[in-house]
Amino acid sequence: MEKPEFSIVIPVYNEQENLPPLLEGIVRIIDNLGKSYEIIIIDDGSTDRSLETLKGLVTKYSSLRIIKFQKNSGQSAAFDAGFKLAQGKAVVTMDADLQYDPRDIPGLLEELKNYDVVCGWRRVRQDPPLKLISTRIANAVRNKLSGENIKDTGCSLKAFKRCFLVNLKMYKGMHRFLPTLLKMRGAKVCEVEVRHLPRKFGRSKYNIRNRLLGSFLDLLFVVWMKKRNLDYKMEVIR
Ligand code: UDP
Ligand code: MG
Repeated sequence: MEKPEFSIVIPVYNEQENLPPLLEGIVRIIDNLGKSYEIIIIDDGSTDRSLETLKGLVTKYSSLRIIKFQKNSGQSAAFDAGFKLAQGKAVVTMDADLQYDPRDIPGLLEELKNYDVVCGWRRVRQDPPLKLISTRIANAVRNKLSGENIKDTGCSLKAFKRCFLVNLKMYKGMHRFLPTLLKMRGAKVCEVEVRHLPRKFGRSKYNIRNRLLGSFLDLLFVVWMKKRNLDYKMEVIR
């Protein structure tokens, strides 16, 4: 089979109600782009009927590929598996919870003509107040300590030139730092405003407790990596 032009990579953990409308919404938009594509969904050890629902959808969507994790392993692991399976020159990541609008995908792909990584920026977020406040603080601390200026690194809706993802060593929690990690690989990164919608079905998998300490330690690791990144220009003389 010929390689698709782009791959969409979506981690799923207990999102059974969201999957049929998710695929329908995505396909309605990207079918009109005149590009070949694949949609890779990683079932991250769901305990609801997400996997059965996905299997039922393959007859309707021939571009759908499914990875099943034996147990819940986290969003970074899911992205890692998706990146490894993806064949497109471009990779788009997003969530399965219908909080992103597939109408934003074409714009992200378009921007990949000028950049290597295009990050969505949810200027107007539709999340509970506590989450909004904690995210705002987390972004400020993250940017300050890591010397970044990324407005919304937690936005999963992003587009990448896949060559920057090849052999990328991921760690748990690192999906939040992909722009920084890829800049360290020389990627040109930009941000594009995207829409954000409230979650209708299922529940958020994150809360302040499970994000705060872990994410802070991750941040220290990234700060260290950035400081100690090998950065040299060389010529082989002979
Ligand atoms: N997710 C996952 N594994 C996890 C946690 C989340 O695959 O351990 C998926 C989840 O199903 C969703 C995306 O990652 O598609 C983002 O999760 P969620 O919407 O709960 O995060 P939030 O938007 O609330 O930050
Ligand atoms: Mg969400």
